[in-house]
Amino acid sequence: MTADFDTNRNDSDRLLERFRQDTLPHFIAGQADPGRTGRTFDSLSPVDNGVIGSVAAGDARDVDAACQAAATAFPEWSELPGAKRRKLLHAIADAIEARARDIALVESSDSGQAIRFMSKAAVRGAENFRFFADRAPGARDGKALPADEHLNYTIRQPIGPVGVITPWNTPFMLSTWKIAPALAAGCTVVHKPAEWSPYTAMMLAEIAHEAGLPDGVLNCVQGLGEEAGRALTEHPAIRAIAFVGESATGSHIMRQGAPTLKRVHFELGGKNPVIVFEDADLDRALDAVVFMIYSLNGERCTSSSRLLIQESIQDRFLARLKERVARLKVGHPLDPATEVGPLIHRRHFDKVCGFFGAAVNDGARLEIGGKPAAIGGGGNFVEPTLFTGARNDMRIAQQEIFGPVLTAISFKDEADALRIANDIEYGLAGYVWTNDVGRSLRLARGLDAGMIWVNSENNRHLPSPFGGMKASGIGRDGGDYSFEFYMETKNVCIALGSHRVPTLGRS
Ligand code: NAD
Repeated sequence: MTADFDTNRNDSDRLLERFRQDTLPHFIAGQADPGRTGRTFDSLSPVDNGVIGSVAAGDARDVDAACQAAATAFPEWSELPGAKRRKLLHAIADAIEARARDIALVESSDSGQAIRFMSKAAVRGAENFRFFADRAPGARDGKALPADEHLNYTIRQPIGPVGVITPWNTPFMLSTWKIAPALAAGCTVVHKPAEWSPYTAMMLAEIAHEAGLPDGVLNCVQGLGEEAGRALTEHPAIRAIAFVGESATGSHIMRQGAPTLKRVHFELGGKNPVIVFEDADLDRALDAVVFMIYSLNGERCTSSSRLLIQESIQDRFLARLKERVARLKVGHPLDPATEVGPLIHRRHFDKVCGFFGAAVNDGARLEIGGKPAAIGGGGNFVEPTLFTGARNDMRIAQQEIFGPVLTAISFKDEADALRIANDIEYGLAGYVWTNDVGRSLRLARGLDAGMIWVNSENNRHLPSPFGGMKASGIGRDGGDYSFEFYMETKNVCIALGSHRVPTLGRS
């Protein structure tokens, strides 16, 4: 055990002590709120499945209180000059940076994600606030659309109080990715974090409050999806729902939001292909393939979970890949050396392990892994796993496993690769490795995915559109795309005074 690991454990214990002592409350109208039900649920540690602490189980009354607070705060917040919103959001970013280590330690302990990745995720949360802070003053800007006898111009205004519902895989970063643009646009927010990772959402609400965000502008309701999440999607004061999670949950939310005509933005599941051609830089491709499925425990929407490998190089490439997978370090999430931590929850662990038998029954070859990792302590550790010789119609090729499990499928040529890549219900991301420029352009056009990376792993660029096609989502985040969702566009048409107005009832 290294000194850093020891320090991380001690510091994390100290931070979690607070959550062990008291039930984690909601945060409504600028204060901690114990809830109206008295009901709680336990939050479990991925490391040993012990109880970290109890959490308030919000119901429709708690959600209503939070939505009322957001509705009350909306008129003033939405009218605050953009420059003031900018200043406040930068103050939140400063406060996140000041507590980045605490956030990373709590996130790691709560979600099982390795600290080497979570320390960056906390800093990225601050970057999200800074990026949208700087755009707050221009959020209302529109376009001038002159015509012969009229001037049309557009302005934007915030849509109203919005609901943000987030998953457990990188909870803090994803929450800021949704909440920062909503606040910059002038919306107020009710956030419902995932029940398996509740803690950093509360830290964010507290940090924002301490940084000076007015009461009611950001509220957080803890609870189960079916209860608190559902009530949020049905609440009449909420104008729009920004949701990140499973595709099936997206369908539920669409139904639940239909009676109140909610605008929805969905970032959903993925089963993303990484296509490696024989002419690629295979060293770089290997690094990216390993990183994009085994980092973040494979619990990553943009993970490259289907490796499409050209037949001519498959033996060579897969042999090297297997060696690398064998050397991945599975361990405690707070150990700086850990590359793959425990999965979030026993139910998710069971789901991931369920694919191992299914894969072999379907005829895939298990190269390495395929079982729980012998770490001890009763945690949700699985061995990084590689299946080869798979067909695209197998369950491990079609379903989102959301764990450190890679499915390799071989292809003959470009047409074959494109056919296999698109033969899936999802369409989030596609990765292409080739040194043939024409081929990369053809595939970028042909792949059914919202985001294409050529000769690169997933590279974050905040102004660029992030989102998926098909069952992977509706809408895009990033830059001005986020404001399109959180704001209404209004057209104003002004006559220059010279056109002929139709006249009726004169004769
Ligand atoms: P999930 O859909 O089970 O839960 C996500 C959130 O929705 C949670 O807060 C949950 O409480 C809530 N919820 C559940 N049922 C609800 C309902 N009926 N009404 C309202 N809210 C409800 O997803 P998860 O298991 O937490 O997260 C993993 C999924 O998230 C994966 O499919 C992954 O691909 C996806 N994801 C997508 C992106 C993206 O950008 N496309 C990013 C991260 C994760």
